[in-house]
Amino acid sequence: MTEPHPSYDVIVVGGGGAGLMATLRAARAGAKTLLLEKNPSLGGTTRLSVGSISANGTPQQAAAGIADNPDDHFEDLGKFAGPLEPRDNLDLRRVYVDNIAAAMRDLMDVGLVFADPVPEPPHRVPRLHNVLPHSGAFIRALSAAANAAGATIRTGAAVADLTTAGGRVTGVVLSDGERLLARRGVVLTSGDYSGAGPDLKADFLPEAIRHVEGINVTATGDGQRMGRAIGSDVVNPDLVWGPEMRFLAPPKPSAVTRIPPTRAFATLTRFAMRALPGPLLRPFLMSFVTTFLAPSKTLLKEGALLINIHGERFCDETDAPEIPVSRQPDRRAFILLDGAMTQKFEAWPYFVSTAPGVGYAYLSDYRRNRRDIFHSAGSLPQLAQKAGLPGDALTATVARYNADASARGGRPAFGDGPYTLLGPLKSWLCFTEGGLRTDTSLRVLRADGTAIAGLFAAGSAGQGGLILEGHGHHLGWAFVSGRIAGAAAACCDDSAPATVSEKELACTH
Ligand SMILES: Cc1cc2nc3c(=O)[nH]c(=O)nc-3n(C[C@H](O)[C@H](O)[C@H](O)COP(=O)(O)OP(=O)(O)OC[C@H]3O[C@@H](n4cnc5c(N)ncnc54)[C@H](O)[C@@H]3O)c2cc1C
Repeated sequence: MTEPHPSYDVIVVGGGGAGLMATLRAARAGAKTLLLEKNPSLGGTTRLSVGSISANGTPQQAAAGIADNPDDHFEDLGKFAGPLEPRDNLDLRRVYVDNIAAAMRDLMDVGLVFADPVPEPPHRVPRLHNVLPHSGAFIRALSAAANAAGATIRTGAAVADLTTAGGRVTGVVLSDGERLLARRGVVLTSGDYSGAGPDLKADFLPEAIRHVEGINVTATGDGQRMGRAIGSDVVNPDLVWGPEMRFLAPPKPSAVTRIPPTRAFATLTRFAMRALPGPLLRPFLMSFVTTFLAPSKTLLKEGALLINIHGERFCDETDAPEIPVSRQPDRRAFILLDGAMTQKFEAWPYFVSTAPGVGYAYLSDYRRNRRDIFHSAGSLPQLAQKAGLPGDALTATVARYNADASARGGRPAFGDGPYTLLGPLKSWLCFTEGGLRTDTSLRVLRADGTAIAGLFAAGSAGQGGLILEGHGHHLGWAFVSGRIAGAAAACCDDSAPATVSEKELACTH
């Protein structure tokens, strides 16, 4: 008898880092696997990311003579959590630290190459591993491997709903009404809700930040919504990374970022990082930057001004300027530096931003590689003209600032040129932290702790209350949890154990 709707063993909803890893693991476990991605191309927030993963027990650490282990990583993650520690899901933290080495192995097996690990206190040893040449490599390598493992990948296919029968999730309905069956399980890997509409944001986020844009406008919390609709709940819904000021991403990819991020190219990049002298290397590495860089707060502490598109200053730069920036015309602002500051932000510790590969980026890096957001001139009217701002207003703004010591809050008067203007920048919600309640197999749980049969969640959609402060833990979680959820769904029966063992990760049907 033919089935009324196309059927698969496992359906994965969302093709970012977690979804691609889940698809790969499910397909490799022998399951007939379908990945559905609503956008025209794969990638999600994973593709927008810097590409750093915090990991212990890696070959890169071993090669650098760094001894590390899951228990130390577990303890250090708690130091990052700080006051959020009581809200942390310690079972999932344990899942992270115990499985990140295996996830990194899988990533390297599909051809990904990482730079040598770099420190980030309070991690006791260097744990931050940056993918090379940029985060597009995750998407390319994992999708190729998933295809090779026999998975089917469909883009432009938005999942609108889950179907259920007898309390079990049986498949999905697409936005055009098409129904697809999942015999063993559906894995929600649809990301976060930083780009969601006002309804979902009103349910989850503090009022003061609901109007702030998400960097990824297609991160609309679809998985959280679908999970809630059948009885799960979202843990830590109010937690969010941001609002944070970031420069706009480069408007068009540089010639270098158009080179496919293959293993050979990544290996060449790593070789260059080890062999080339700094002055030659920096422009090369900066040209890989595809992401939204965040200006250092030190710029504002040292006396830089925030200016809107009308050439006006609009807030105390040292007192949480992110919300005022988000309320400016076009939601845009610029950072204005005088001549002394322009000289100062050329050397440690006065960096403009961190940047993948180079670590810390200075004004000369921006002057060379980010001409779209770097403007300089000897006078304020000339500067304004270059950046398309009203020159009279900019000159008047600086004069008013210098005439009123109380407006400066202890910062120095604004000096002479040559001036630098960096921007535009915006305030963004980078991503939200609320994920569906999950157990250590990434099964989705009801609020009472019982599992919803046939439903799994991973990555941001399945964050389950895990606190991922510091850098590199969100991508790490996407790959760790996607790996476990994909394998668990492929092996799924209703008596699935609470924790997926290595044997189950390798199971075949
Ligand atoms: C600028 C920036 C830099 C970052 N840098 C880092 C970093 O260096 N290290 C780090 O650890 N973290 C970083 N992060 C965070 C990290 O990128 C994310 O937490 C992580 O990528 C989330 O992965 P995911 O697979 O859960 O979601 P995503 O990568 O967002 O994937 C979700 C996918 O699901 C799709 N989808 C959504 N709804 C549906 C639907 N209804 N039907 C079908 N498909 C759907 C989406 O289109 C998307 O492709 C950064 C974030 C930002 C914004």
